[in-house]
This record gives sequence, structure tokens and C-alpha cells, in this order.
Amino acid sequence: MGFFNKNNEDFSEQWRKKYLNLLDAQNKIEHEHQEKEKLLRQFIIQLSIVSEGHDKNLDPILLRVRNHVKGDIESKTLKAELKTFTESIKNLPLQKKILNLGLLFEFLLRQYTSPQEQSALRELQAFAIKEETGFEQASDLFLEILKIIEPSELPAIENMGVENIIEPVVYIDVNMVGEHLLQYFETLAVPEVFEAQAKLIKEELLNPNKATKPFEEILDEVVQLLIEIKEYSDADQQDIDQFLLHIAVQLSELNFIVTQTNSALTDSVKSRNKLDQSVFTDIRELQIQAIKTTSIDSLKSMVNNCFKTVSSNIKTHHQQEKEQQLQFQDYMAELINKMISMELDAENLKMELKVIHTQAMQDALTGLPNRNAYNQRIKEEFARYKRYGSPLTFVIWDIDHFKKINDSFGHKSGDKVLAFTASLLQERKRDTDFLARFGGEEFVMLLPNTGRDSAFILVEELRELVASTGFNSNGKSVAITISCGLTELTEDDTEDSFFERADKALYEAKNQGRNQCCVADSLENKG
Ligand code: GH3
Ligand code: MG
Ligand code: MG
Repeated sequence: MGFFNKNNEDFSEQWRKKYLNLLDAQNKIEHEHQEKEKLLRQFIIQLSIVSEGHDKNLDPILLRVRNHVKGDIESKTLKAELKTFTESIKNLPLQKKILNLGLLFEFLLRQYTSPQEQSALRELQAFAIKEETGFEQASDLFLEILKIIEPSELPAIENMGVENIIEPVVYIDVNMVGEHLLQYFETLAVPEVFEAQAKLIKEELLNPNKATKPFEEILDEVVQLLIEIKEYSDADQQDIDQFLLHIAVQLSELNFIVTQTNSALTDSVKSRNKLDQSVFTDIRELQIQAIKTTSIDSLKSMVNNCFKTVSSNIKTHHQQEKEQQLQFQDYMAELINKMISMELDAENLKMELKVIHTQAMQDALTGLPNRNAYNQRIKEEFARYKRYGSPLTFVIWDIDHFKKINDSFGHKSGDKVLAFTASLLQERKRDTDFLARFGGEEFVMLLPNTGRDSAFILVEELRELVASTGFNSNGKSVAITISCGLTELTEDDTEDSFFERADKALYEAKNQGRNQCCVADSLENKG
């Protein structure tokens, strides 16, 4: 009996396994089928999106097909749509299939807006779309379009026979243009990455006649560099904008966390109040019942029930409070992390801005403040002078015969002389005095709280220091002398008038033989 029983069991077990396996296989097929269907739907949707815009008649059909495919596919309707779609494709004219003329002309009409261009384009569009007369080759169509939008690019028939047109010859004073461009470069804050490039161009500009390239090529390089510098500066600005956006997003996230934390705290207070209220109500109820009741047993069970309710309420409350506390801790941790990352970001930005600011205000060759920095400082000093009236003296320095130094020792040595002279002036000037490279081999100084007499003593010391300090270029000694013009600011001065006065005094110092300093006021008195 046992034997048969066992056999029976085996048999049913086998059938059970077989049935389950079949079920598994069925499920798998079903699943694969669903996957394929999903893929197919996605593909059809994407294909219909991509095809949109090619033909006005096809677009509504494509949209309908897409909507069918998104929902439950009803094969009958879909089949009908696909048939209409196929018919519509068959009816499309040849060039339309290759070229989207509608889009092309829409673009051209938006781009070329003069009345002549508009009417010519519309005429061409009407012609191109007509099936019988339209262009057979796309290139013919493009040639016609080109005639409308770029008439000058095509050979002008009227001018073809005219020969020997002599262009007027224009002579440019390349030295003068070069000099102007050099001066312009001096006022420009060239970012560090372009310094080497700028230096090469400057060298070419210094001596355009001896340059290895034609002047036009040098000019092209200048323009190219200026464009690159501009794009680079714009990119800097974009970086900052992006960072500010990032900070704004972080701040809003922070705000969100703080709101959540506050609401968690409010919830916790609310839930505690609710518990207090409920315990109070339970005890009060118990009191009322206790007064009313006469039997000790019912009183006992009442007290018991009351305790049960109260302790269950307390338990629930504790549970909730624990959860809220955990949530609160999470919020706080997130808050702290956000604050730390924001602080780091802000610190980085500060450093980046500092670098940008230094680049914009510092002369790369000498390390001195540049003309931008001077323009800013003179405004401050001028305002201070107007407010407090304490004396202020202005000085312009210029290296004597610097061109000769360049010519005799080379431009690189010239650069070294510039840096060396700057360092001498910088080291010996007083801490409160301001020194900047104004451009080329010219420096300016602002001496606050200093009248022209004491200023004169100071500048004479500096002049003598430079004249007596030797400079060596590859073993050859280079004599350096400098001249200056100085003037003390007066009540009637404007931001330009004292500059002109000092410049005149410098001119005088040069005229009188160089290596000397002239005071503007005394010159005026003399004259
Ligand atoms: P003066 O005594 O009258 O001032 O004569 P100068 O030769 O010093 O004056 P000029 O203005 O005729 O020439 C100044 C020269 O300085 C012309 C220019 O080539 C050169 N220069 C300007 N900037 C730089 C620079 O950054 N590096 C070098 N090496 N030379 C420069
Ligand atoms: Mg000069
Ligand atoms: Mg000079």
C-alpha cells in the first residue's frame, strides 16, 4: 500500500513540476513579448517625432499614429492610419522628399528682410514648389537663392568688360600705427594666458619695418588676439554668472531644509500637546466615573482601562517622537553639509575674483599697478584732496632714450631695464606713495600729503638713484637715466589739468637735456 502511495505521490509531483515549468516558460515568453512591444512603441514614437515637419499633410497622421501607439494599440485603427500614411508618402513630389523647402524658405525669409529680398524669395519659393516647373537639381535652386541673398558674390555682368581699374595707393605710416597699437596694448589688461602671444606681437609692432611679416599680417594678428581676449573675458564672466546661479540654487535648497526642520519641530510640539490633552481627558473621565461608581470591581477595571489607554498613547507618542528626532537629525546633518559646501564655494569664488582683479589691475612686466589701477586711485586721491585740502603732488616719469636702449641691446633687454627701473622706484618710494606703470616706458606717481618742494627733494633722490645704479645686459653695462615732470594740485584743477601740466614739465626736462626733474609751477612762473 505504502509503495503505491509513494508512486502516486511521485507521479503527481512530476506533473506539478511539469505544470510549473510550462507556466514559467509561458511567463518568460509573455515578458519578452512585452519588452519587444515596448521597444517597438518607443521606436515608432521617436521615428514619428523625427519625421515631423517634412510635410504638412503627413504631420497630423504622424501625431495620430503616435497617440495610438502611446495608448492601447487597436490594430484596426492603426492599420487604417498606416494605409493613409503610405498613400500620402506616395503622393509627395520628388524634390519635397529630398529637401524640406518649406523650412528652408521660412528660414531665408526670416533672415533676409529687405523688400526686394522678400519678394524675390517668395517668387522663387512659389516656383520651386510647383511640381512641373520646380528645379530638378538642388544646386540650381541654391544658385538662384545665392543670386538673391549675395548678389555681390556672383560675377557682375556690367563690370566684366572694364579693365585696368587702378586702385588708389594708400601709404600707411606703419610706425605711427604700430606705436598707437603698442600704447593701446599697454592700457589693456592682457590675461596671463595671452601674455606670450601679446609679447610677440608687441615686438613686431615695435619695429614694423624690420618685422618678418608684412604689416597687414601683423594687424590681422592683433585683431585676432583682441577677439580672443574678449572671448576669454566673456567666458570669465560666464563662469561667475554660473557660480551665482549655483549659489542661488543652493540657497533655495537650504531654505527648503530649514522649512522642513521647522515644520518637524512644530509637529513635535503639536503631538506633545495632543498627548497632554488626551491624558488629561482620560484622567478627567476616570475621576467622573469614580465619583459615580459604587462597586470596587468596576472601579478597578475602569482604572485598568484608563491606564491601558494612557500608556498606549504615551507609547505611540514616544515612537513618533523618536522617528521625528531621527528625521530632524537627518535634516540637520544635510543642513550642515550644505553650509560647508557653500562656504567652500564662496571661498573659491573669492579667490578666483581676486586673481581676476589682480590681472586687471597689475602690469605683467613690472608687477606694478597698471593704468587701470592708476585711473581708480587718482579718483580716490582727487576726492580726498578736494575734501580735506591736504597737499597732493603728481609726477610723470619717463626713461630717457629708451628707444636707443631697445635698438642697441634688443627688446628683451629693454624689458629687463623697464622691470629693473620699476623695482628701483618701487623700493625707494615711501609706503604711502603710489607708483604705477602708465604705459610704455612711462610711470606715474601720486604723493599724498606732500607739497611740491618736499616732492622735488624726493624725486631728485630717485632720479639720482637710477642714474647711479648700473644695469648689466649680457656683460655690457647699460646706462639708464630718467626724467620727470611734477606738479602740486591746486583748487582749480580738474582730473586732466594737472596731468597736462606735469606732462609739459616733463617735456621741458627732456628739452633741457634729460636726466632731470622739472616742477610745473616754477616753469609757469618763469614763463
Ligand atoms: P625720450 O628720452 O625722449 O623719452 O626718448 P625715448 O626713446 O625714450 O622715447 P620714445 O617715446 O621715442 O620711445 C619709447 C620707446 O619705448 C618706444 C617703444 O618702442 C619702447 N617701448 C614701449 N613699450 C615697451 C615695452 O614694453 N618693452 C620695450 N622693450 N620697449 C618698449
Ligand atoms: Mg615716452
Ligand atoms: Mg622715453
